[in-house]
Amino acid sequence: MEKYDVAVVGAGPGGLKAAETLAKNGKKVIVLEKNSIVGPKVCAGGLTTKDESLIDKSIIQRSFDSVVVRSKRQSIVIRDKKPFVYTTSRKDFGQWQLKQAEKAGAEVRVNSNVTKLKENSVFADGNEIAFDCLIGADGSNSIVRKFLGLGNEKTHMAIQYIIRGRFNDMEIIFDADKFGYGYAWVFPYKNYASIGCGMDLRHMKTSVLKQNFHRWLDERKIDYAGARFEAFLINYDFRGFEFGNKFLIGDAAGFTSGLSGEGIYSAMLSGDEVAKKIINNDYDCEKLNGYLKIKNLHEKILGFMERHRKMLKINQEIGIFLLRSDFIAKKAISLVTG
Ligand SMILES: Cc1cc2nc3c(=O)[nH]c(=O)nc-3n(C[C@H](O)[C@H](O)[C@H](O)COP(=O)(O)OP(=O)(O)OC[C@H]3O[C@@H](n4cnc5c(N)ncnc54)[C@H](O)[C@@H]3O)c2cc1C
Repeated sequence: MEKYDVAVVGAGPGGLKAAETLAKNGKKVIVLEKNSIVGPKVCAGGLTTKDESLIDKSIIQRSFDSVVVRSKRQSIVIRDKKPFVYTTSRKDFGQWQLKQAEKAGAEVRVNSNVTKLKENSVFADGNEIAFDCLIGADGSNSIVRKFLGLGNEKTHMAIQYIIRGRFNDMEIIFDADKFGYGYAWVFPYKNYASIGCGMDLRHMKTSVLKQNFHRWLDERKIDYAGARFEAFLINYDFRGFEFGNKFLIGDAAGFTSGLSGEGIYSAMLSGDEVAKKIINNDYDCEKLNGYLKIKNLHEKILGFMERHRKMLKINQEIGIFLLRSDFIAKKAISLVTG
């Protein structure tokens, strides 16, 4: 049986970052990825300034120093002096991360679907692989999370069309009738855009979300005939990341923000921090704990919107009206980018 210091399930942003850090520090690490190509993932590919320290600028397709925020009655532009949001193709991003991980000495094995786990080994593609430590980096439908017996109650469904053409503005759209306390987005790339929406599955069925999304696309006169449709879950139900010799990172752990659905940054951050914890058990994961405070703040705002559902339309209009103040707009930008 093959044996590794650390086995990582999943070659997404979290798993590859963890593998890179572990390998750089001399650990024998394998990443098991079920797909044949590393990178592609249902995602709008939005990044913010907080990702800058973890990525290479070459993977950025478009940069924006402004975002259009819309509701039923208003449309405003929040702006900063320099770009604060970006779009990246998940394939390019994954391929760049793959190079970093392999350069550091990690082994990344594609076509390796992990189907079974034991206390100290995993089964992938007919092979049993033993480990000292295991990292579950296998996203919102994590087999490692299930093995650990953790439930999963807080989940968004996020859907999108990939629409060809040149779109100018990055947009966030609030429309309580259609998206509840979720939102829709337009994230432009060089010659296409991810146009999508998301909402908590506890409060809106996927079929209803899709119907509402189509109504909204029709109202905006966005032609989605023939466009690629994609949908996936976003788990934001965080219940810890360390379970003896097993760890969860990224969406598998529920690190994603329940408010924005943004999870690339927290996947990479948690991958890096958990790797450092495996290397040195005394490592305090200060950055990750700092991030969790921001996630909690995001989810307090979400909880407020959930509890005051009857007032949602008014609250969204008030919130967007307040963004006309430069001070509040700056606070809103730092809530997402900080
Ligand atoms: C529609 C949509 C839009 C989004 N837009 C954004 C955005 O704009 N910005 C942002 O920051 N976040 C966004 N997100 C969230 C973001 O995609 C995730 O938070 C992020 O990808 C999490 O990274 P991860 O490494 O934890 O998991 P993932 O990226 O999900 O990677 C998990 C990997 O594990 C592999 N895997 C799964 N199961 C197994 C198994 N059994 N065996 C082997 N391999 C396995 C998968 O193939 C995958 O490669 C969006 C999500 C959705 C659904």
